Amino acid sequence: MVYQSFLIKYAEIGTKGKNRYLFEDALIKQIKNALKKVEGRFLASKESGRIYVQAEGEYDCDEVIEALQRVFGIAWICPMLQIENKDFENIKQVVLDYIDQEYPDKHFTFKVDSRRADKNYPVHSEDMNRQLGEMILNAYPETSVDVHNPQVLLKVEVRKVVNIYSRMIPGPGGMPVGTNGKAMLLLSGGIDSPVAGWMIAKRGVKIDAVYFHAPPYTSDRAKQKVIDLAKLVARYSGPIPLHIINFTDIQLYIYEQCPHEELTIIMRRYMMKIAEEIGKKTDCLALITGESIGQVASQTVQSLAATNEVCTVPVFRPLIGFDKQEIVDISQKIGTFETSIQPYEDCCTIFVAKHPVIKPNLNMIHKSELALNEKIDEMVKTAIETAELVWCD
Ligand code: ATP
Ligand code: MG
Repeated sequence: MVYQSFLIKYAEIGTKGKNRYLFEDALIKQIKNALKKVEGRFLASKESGRIYVQAEGEYDCDEVIEALQRVFGIAWICPMLQIENKDFENIKQVVLDYIDQEYPDKHFTFKVDSRRADKNYPVHSEDMNRQLGEMILNAYPETSVDVHNPQVLLKVEVRKVVNIYSRMIPGPGGMPVGTNGKAMLLLSGGIDSPVAGWMIAKRGVKIDAVYFHAPPYTSDRAKQKVIDLAKLVARYSGPIPLHIINFTDIQLYIYEQCPHEELTIIMRRYMMKIAEEIGKKTDCLALITGESIGQVASQTVQSLAATNEVCTVPVFRPLIGFDKQEIVDISQKIGTFETSIQPYEDCCTIFVAKHPVIKPNLNMIHKSELALNEKIDEMVKTAIETAELVWCD
């Protein structure tokens, strides 16, 4: 069946008060953005507390639904028939055809749920329910009515036009991107950080990203992989500006000056510092990482505390209590897994100590970092100034 219209039902936005329109407008903006990439002409609009998408001309219905399933803030997508001729006899005929085409197998239970937003409409909703129900039973004797738990809930809404629908396709939930400020995602080529970015974007936060690249220790392929991942996350979050920092000199300097078992922690402290500084320039109010307690030596509670110490903005770690398998499940669901497991290392093994500290002592870390005093500020400044910006869309 070819649908020209979709009713978009939102979830949490419905709980908003006077500022609800801001969320609705943001949702419409994100819907338009998502549909830009689908062939065809689409119109997204709001009418008395509801959001509609209208399609014009030729288009692929599945593609539209797929695109809408990536727009945060959408709870349900309902492909529907919209008819202008409100004559009840006409509605009946359209409903019959609709049921016939939409459900080739007629062995189902159903209930008709009619609404009359137009109170001048001559047929009352109860009458509509009864008459349409009887008509369906007569025309398709294999069907039966179940008012408590129907397999098909047929909605017929008489408004300015008549909406007829019964399919509700789940959206991703969450809040429209752009309604909750912006945060800087530390994006590596692994499984975790893309999932972390997706989770925070789902709550309406716009995403900027930063990747620490260390050529020649990390390859161009590794960098391309991170760009590819940013593009995959951008299918949900909208365009992501990815700041690529050349981290080689800083990494080598730490390697030369500091105890090797503290390398990872000290490196991570500088990553956080630099991410925060770039983020402040682009109005990011928080950082996002893919850390999860105990996953590796640099993610013990002590290590997390040591990394966190250098940050002055909140650090969001949405995966903090997740097991690896739970993270893998999400990455498969959102489509980043296959790219994440490509074998291009995001971190060179020479910088990974055989026996990294598991419970770093902050006093010792501070002491070790003194050895960096001579050059580190200048190096951080240069790294930020020479960052490469790639728009991932
Ligand atoms: P991921 O799967 O996200 O790579 P991981 O399990 O490999 O995570 P770590 O390498 O310890 O864990 O990194 C922890 C977090 O630090 C990552 O989730 C990411 O947010 C950030 N991070 C690590 N390396 C980089 C990098 N090269 N560039 C940007 N962020 C990074
Ligand atoms: Mg990693």
